[in-house]
Amino acid sequence: MTIYDLHCHSTASDGVLSPRALVHRASEMGVHVLALTDHDEVSGQAEALLAAREAGLRLINGVEISVSWGNVTLHVVGLNVDPLDSVLLNGLSRNRSGRTERARHIADELARVGIAGAFEGASSLADNKELISRTHFARYLIEYGAAKNMKAVFKKFLVKGKPGYVSHEWASLAEAVTWIRSAGGVAVLAHPGRYQIGREKMRLLLAEFKSFGGAGIEVVTGSHTPDQVPIYADLAVEFDLMASIGSDFHSPGEGGRELGRLTALPERCRPIWQAWEPG
Ligand code: AMP
Ligand code: MN
Ligand code: MN
Ligand code: MN
Repeated sequence: MTIYDLHCHSTASDGVLSPRALVHRASEMGVHVLALTDHDEVSGQAEALLAAREAGLRLINGVEISVSWGNVTLHVVGLNVDPLDSVLLNGLSRNRSGRTERARHIADELARVGIAGAFEGASSLADNKELISRTHFARYLIEYGAAKNMKAVFKKFLVKGKPGYVSHEWASLAEAVTWIRSAGGVAVLAHPGRYQIGREKMRLLLAEFKSFGGAGIEVVTGSHTPDQVPIYADLAVEFDLMASIGSDFHSPGEGGRELGRLTALPERCRPIWQAWEPG
C-alpha cells in the first residue's frame, strides 16, 4: 500500500525542520509520496526535491495559500504545481508582502498586554523573514512563559477577540485557485472542518470553490477529529470533489500530527492523486 502525506510545512514557512530534514523524516515514517505545502511559499521545493531523490520517496510540489473569503480566513492547498510558474510566484509574493507589517501590528497588540519584544522574538524564530506567521508568535509566547503549549497559546492569544489578533486581507478564493491552476496544479480546500462556518455556509463555500475550478478537499487531515472524516467524505462525494489526505505536520513535539500517521481515505472517496496518476 502506498502511503501518501500531502500536507506539511518546513522552515520555508512555519515548520521547524528544513525541507531536507522534513523529507528524510517522512521517509523514516514510511511515507512514499509527500507534498511539501508551505504557507504562501515554494522556496523549499528545490531542496525537498533533492532530498526526495536521496531518500527514495516521491515529492509532489505543493503550496498552502492563505485566502480571505468574506471575513473568514481559508487555506487552499495547491498540489503538483510548477514552482517556477510566474503567475503563482507573483501571487504568492503578493500574499507574503503584507506579513511583516501585520507582524508589527501583532507585536504592538501583544505589547499592550505586557508582552515585550514579540516582533524581534517571532522574527528571530522565522527562518524565512518574508514569512513571519502566527506560529512563530506562538512559539515566542511559549518561550516567554505566556502559555504552556501550542494549544493553550491559541486559546489565549492570536485568535479573534484575543490579544495579538490582527485581521488581514489575503488572496481571494478565485485568485488562489487561478494561481494554482496556472501552475498546472490541483486546488484542494484545506482542513474544512476547522472553519467556524455553519453547514449551509460550508455548502456555499464548496459550490463556489468548485465553480472557480477547485478540484478537491482534505478529508483525512491532522486537523480533523475521527468523526469529522465521514462528514467531509460525504461532502466530497456530493460535490464531486476529489479527496486529499495530509498530516499538516509542522514540528516534532508541538502536539500536531506526525508525518504519515493518517487513517486511509474512506472507500467512497476519489483520491486526489488520480489527478496526476490517471488510470
Ligand atoms: P498565519 O498564516 O500567520 O495566520 O498563521 C496560521 C498558522 O497558525 C496555521 O497554519 C497554524 O500553523 C497555526 N495555528 C493557527 N491556529 C492554531 C491552533 N489553534 N493550534 C495550533 N496552531 C494553530
Ligand atoms: Mn501553519
Ligand atoms: Mn492550514
Ligand atoms: Mn498547513
